[in-house]
Amino acid sequence: MNICVCIKQVPDTNEIKVDPVTHTLVRAGVPSIVNPFDTYAQEVGVRLKEKLGGKVVVISMGPPQAKEALKSCLAVGADAAYLISGRKFGGSDTLATSYILSEAIKAVEEKEGLKFDLILCGKQAVDGDTAQVGPEIAEHLDLPQITYALDIIEEDGEIQVKRECEAGYDMIATKLPAVVTVVKLPYEPRYPTIKSKMAAKKKEIPVLSEEDIPSIDLACCGLKGSPTKVKKTYTPVREKNGVKLAGMPAEEAAEQVVKLIYDAKIL
Ligand SMILES: Cc1cc2nc3c(=O)[nH]c(=O)nc-3n(C[C@H](O)[C@H](O)[C@H](O)COP(=O)(O)OP(=O)(O)OC[C@H]3O[C@@H](n4cnc5c(N)ncnc54)[C@H](O)[C@@H]3O)c2cc1C
Repeated sequence: MNICVCIKQVPDTNEIKVDPVTHTLVRAGVPSIVNPFDTYAQEVGVRLKEKLGGKVVVISMGPPQAKEALKSCLAVGADAAYLISGRKFGGSDTLATSYILSEAIKAVEEKEGLKFDLILCGKQAVDGDTAQVGPEIAEHLDLPQITYALDIIEEDGEIQVKRECEAGYDMIATKLPAVVTVVKLPYEPRYPTIKSKMAAKKKEIPVLSEEDIPSIDLACCGLKGSPTKVKKTYTPVREKNGVKLAGMPAEEAAEQVVKLIYDAKIL
């Protein structure tokens, strides 16, 4: 089974800050990681490859430093990696990003001389948080999609996906090729070894820009190709309105808490 995993490099922080002038994320000085949900998607992909054979190829659209994220994927079982990076891609919203990724997937198929049976994404990126890119890739490629996967079982050219839902899980089947987005799994992705890290470091990561993706329509890329217009961004101010109750017996403190809750009309 040939599998493409889309991974995004995200800031390693819970406190995303927005530049008040440019309205873009402040990335300077913030260490980066592979989006955690994407590490689960990659682990699912590598496990399927180990069982069924084939290849796992990771792709990421981003700036040159996203190569580091791709290298870390190569160290934990991916066979090849491509960085999708070009001047015309900057300023893309989710629709343009997913369009570029879907065209890049076709270009990577050409370069690798294969067809992908499965395209895996994380359920959402922890910085942008929209959860739109995976389903949009499926639409651009006109493929069936299953979101929120906990497990994928292949059987006779089909997959059965255990899909997380509020009441527990659904089992959904689809023919291949398909797009599947993956949630946090009940097990952790594997760790790299020193040997696998060294091997990954030596691997070349080709960069595909607009010139390397002949089918791409540049009118659908970048800021011009993005129907989303950001009117205003701001960082919410955290109000420190907590009350500390100290120096009194527990019963009295409990009474005070109840009074405060009633006064604040929470109950
Ligand atoms: C008007 C506008 C302009 C923007 N300009 C820029 C810009 O200049 N630079 C910039 O970095 N961002 C920019 N963004 C943000 C960018 O569009 C989103 O980060 C991107 O579309 C992914 O959305 P998300 O983070 O919500 O991912 P989600 O939809 O939550 O991600 C779901 C999954 O899709 C896959 N995925 C998502 N993004 C990528 C990727 N880049 N590569 C590979 N796989 C991916 C991953 O598997 C991920 O788990 C802009 C957004 C808007 C609205």
